[in-house]
Amino acid sequence: MLEKMESVNVDQVIEEFETITKDAEKIQRETLKRILEENGSAEYLQNLGLNGRTDPESYKACVPLVSHPDLEPYIRRIADGDNSRILTGKAITALSISTGTTQGKPKLIPFNDELMENTMQIFRTSFAFRNKEFPLGNGKALQFIYGRSPVMTKGGLRVGPATAHVYGNSKFKSGMKSMQTPYCSPDEVIFGPDYQQSLYCHLLCGLIFCEEIQLVSSTFAHGIVQAFRTFELVWEELCADIQEGVLSSRVTTPSIRASMSKILKPNPELADLIHRRCLRLSNWYGLIPTLFPNAKYIYGILTGSMEHYLKKLRHYAGELHLVCADYGASEGWIGVNVNPSLPPESATYAVLPNIGYYEFLPLRQNVEDQVLCLEPKPVGLTDVTVGEEYEIITTNFAGLYRYQLGDVVKVMGFHNSTPELKFVCRKNLLLSIALDKATEKDLQLSVESAAKLLAEEKLEVIDFTSHADVSTDPGHYIIFWEISGDASEEVLKECCNCLDQSFLDGGYFTSRKTNVIGPLELRVVHKGTFQKILDHHVSLGSAPNQFKTPRCVGTVNNAVLQILTNNVAKKYFSSVLW
Ligand code: AMP
Repeated sequence: MLEKMESVNVDQVIEEFETITKDAEKIQRETLKRILEENGSAEYLQNLGLNGRTDPESYKACVPLVSHPDLEPYIRRIADGDNSRILTGKAITALSISTGTTQGKPKLIPFNDELMENTMQIFRTSFAFRNKEFPLGNGKALQFIYGRSPVMTKGGLRVGPATAHVYGNSKFKSGMKSMQTPYCSPDEVIFGPDYQQSLYCHLLCGLIFCEEIQLVSSTFAHGIVQAFRTFELVWEELCADIQEGVLSSRVTTPSIRASMSKILKPNPELADLIHRRCLRLSNWYGLIPTLFPNAKYIYGILTGSMEHYLKKLRHYAGELHLVCADYGASEGWIGVNVNPSLPPESATYAVLPNIGYYEFLPLRQNVEDQVLCLEPKPVGLTDVTVGEEYEIITTNFAGLYRYQLGDVVKVMGFHNSTPELKFVCRKNLLLSIALDKATEKDLQLSVESAAKLLAEEKLEVIDFTSHADVSTDPGHYIIFWEISGDASEEVLKECCNCLDQSFLDGGYFTSRKTNVIGPLELRVVHKGTFQKILDHHVSLGSAPNQFKTPRCVGTVNNAVLQILTNNVAKKYFSSVLW
């Protein structure tokens, strides 16, 4: 029997969102109450002396701020199969592996049905706002997503990336249909064991259904750019597969081959059409709308560390809109993009007050606290100040209580009474040797300035990262670049100088001037080095679509540092006289 799928009622979803954001403070109190009632019997909360109280004041007084290492012993017990009420009222049955690109090692985080519900609420809400601006027709979505089959802990819990838990849930598949975006690839492709093979087949499925594709997406911009960089290399092979109706021998996984054989039939006309479309392009500009003429937009997380890929994404997108997806983490969702027509550089996320309890730790102390040497205190969701930056603290339905997420956000305004946040950076991603404190954003801006010199040579920085090297005296910054082709020595020396001069942080300036920090070093790495870093993270259990290049690699992340150092092709030191 054919399944009848109700479409999302866009107006109703928007109305619900408007209602819950009108009195966000009340909704926050109610949400905290629900979380504490459902989980009050958990050992973690029992030990903190809440004694059944569920009001924010008692909660803040009894429950300490924590970060992941504080919870590790509890999560380890859960992973090992202790199914007593440790962090939650109901036993946790799945754990998410977050990419752990900050600390170099993946983190395990509890996942449960409530987080799945939150995910679908976020997806529905942002779809409703998006569809008002960019209505989709009936068709399919080309989604570069990778599920991975979960592994089991010795205690019998499913462990996998958070996105894999989502893609493996039947609510995701039906949700995508109700949002007019059923994905075009078979499940066997999404859950294939080798993501390079899955990526090839995603591209092939996209081409087979090219006239039906309504949108192209991945979790993060990196996944879309990586897919079309691969397309540039394999497009003729893809056309040959369509021409002959035979899947390339590069795909060896039997389940993927079997599922693809159901949709891949010889189609010389389509192969010829795609071939002609590709040959029409100049340097692949506008590739995505050329291949998928009915696509309405490109969709994914495009902010934060993804901003570096925007230039390339815009190149592939031509005139097609880039729409920014939402803001969340394996630890839970935070906000939804309710202004989808804004460019990624201005994107904000309105916090959903009913999916978690949120606090905001000010990064700037107020004057009174400074005088009294008091630590800054977290403020509630509706007490944040426009223009200020905060670290987010989240309490969710899956056993995280007052958990410091490590993300810095800036309050840009309010939607009704809930704040609209701009993602600023990861808090711990800092290059720091002496007085200097260069954030992820400072690094990105510095790379952007220097990359302009490369662009004059028609070259681009494919990816980049950094390291604060204190093994030398004085210590110095090392920037690693992977470049799309060969640049002259002269240009690379200029790029190195430009990188050095573009860190605008006062601490860096002073430290460089007094030689407390030595000349910046640019190390150009061989092509494919950043792919090796992605492969390394995938081998540790991360999902390729959740991958974020670590923008600063510390010595704790030795494996990645080794990959970088083993692949250095050229080195330059800044010759700027400060
Ligand atoms: P993970 O749990 O490994 O998937 O990573 C979650 C992290 O990705 C968050 O803590 C953020 O640092 C980053 N992230 C998620 N959504 C966004 C977004 N919309 N913009 C920028 N960064 C994001």
